[in-house]
Amino acid sequence: MRTEFIDILIIGGGQAGLAMSHMLKQRGCLSIVVERNRIAERWRMRGPAA
Ligand SMILES: Cc1cc2nc3c(=O)[nH]c(=O)nc-3n(C[C@H](O)[C@H](O)[C@H](O)COP(=O)(O)OP(=O)(O)OC[C@H]3O[C@@H](n4cnc5c(N)ncnc54)[C@H](O)[C@@H]3O)c2cc1C
Repeated sequence: MRTEFIDILIIGGGQAGLAMSHMLKQRGCLSIVVERNRIAERWRMRGPAA
């Protein structure tokens, strides 16, 4: 069985969580994002730009 070690667990795959994950990756830090709905759910629910 393969085991991986993650440095940071991010709760919520919204704007802040995804940005944090990206910045951590750029700095060589492993993270996992857990999202209860779909990734970027709030942004998906937005209507088309007026
Ligand atoms: C109609 C509308 C228009 C907007 N327009 C703009 C704009 O033009 N410019 C702008 O800068 N901002 C805009 N915003 C605001 C912007 O969407 C929010 O400020 C931004 O999404 C906040 O990001 P966040 O990551 O903090 O929170 P969210 O985007 O809410 O992300 C949090 C995520 O965490 C998840 N979550 C919560 N609890 C748990 C849990 N216990 N376990 C797992 N997952 C969990 C949620 O499902 C969600 O996906 C707009 C918002 C709306 C509704």
